[in-house]
Amino acid sequence: MTQQPSNYRGRFAPSPTGPLHAGSLVAALASWLDARAHGGQWLVRMEDVDTPRTVPGAAARILQQLADCGLQSDEPVAWQSARCALYQEALDQLIAAGLAYPCACSRKEIEAAIALAGEQRARHTELVYPGTCRHGLVPGRDSGHTPCAWRLRTDTHMENEPIALVEYTHTAINLVAHHTIAWHDLRLGAQQQDVTAEVGDFVLKRADGCFTYQLAVVVDDSAQSITQVVRGVDLADNTARQILLQRALGLTTPQYLHTPLVLGANGEKLSKQNGALALDTASPAAALAALQQAAHVLGLPAATQATVANALAGWIPAWQAAYVDRYRATAARIDRAT
Ligand code: GLU
Repeated sequence: MTQQPSNYRGRFAPSPTGPLHAGSLVAALASWLDARAHGGQWLVRMEDVDTPRTVPGAAARILQQLADCGLQSDEPVAWQSARCALYQEALDQLIAAGLAYPCACSRKEIEAAIALAGEQRARHTELVYPGTCRHGLVPGRDSGHTPCAWRLRTDTHMENEPIALVEYTHTAINLVAHHTIAWHDLRLGAQQQDVTAEVGDFVLKRADGCFTYQLAVVVDDSAQSITQVVRGVDLADNTARQILLQRALGLTTPQYLHTPLVLGANGEKLSKQNGALALDTASPAAALAALQQAAHVLGLPAATQATVANALAGWIPAWQAAYVDRYRATAARIDRAT
């Protein structure tokens, strides 16, 4: 396959909360193959912004596992923990635009406010913040003394957002702008989420001072000029929030592709949290076996060549045929329709 120079920039963005497992290698391999199939750049970004959850040694282990699998970042690895000034700048921009506000509510208080409003919450779903601090902290608290989180307002029109994209509903008290974000996932197809109703004003910076994944990922994808986000489908639900934040900050939206999940023996999503085993990549044979398993999840043929490098080289055209060509056809259909 001839590769043209391209503006494509993709990334793999692991959180160092443990070593790579079979599920995270699928996302790593898919994002690497997609970048290579487009003749683009592939970057690794270490998402260590949530310092209390960062496990010492995990980042180095992940980078070693990636290297064992022949997946090397085309640029020096970016570390989120070193980029907090950028996240603060973005937050300041949102505060200045009246789109971010301090919130001193505890989880208990949020639950109580939701119960008081008579709203039900499905099990396992996030709490939709009821907006208690939207118009100021409750009397007796001030942001100088009470530890505050910072939330994004999802109930007002945003300056950078085309007015046609926002729907409005009347509540007993006021008019609420609903940000219903529609986006096209290259594998999943048309997606939509009413962020205002389904997520609510989400946290950008926590009361402990940590910036959240949502803010950091949006700032970094833009700062690193990422054009294509290829990641696990377990993250798909975050996409609407990220697009909303991109609009609030006046940033461009990359294309998204969410890869299939690897399920554990119990049929549940494999994750570091449910004890997924660290991948063994210590020998070339083990690394090749791990890659074969990831390629299988992506529907790619088993590599018959004996080395990691040969297997990767063989999967690039297979990925091209299985994914890129299919997406080009879909993208052409979308272009014609709009
Ligand atoms: N750091 C996130 C995770 O490991 C992935 C972020 C992303 O790809 O957007 O779950």
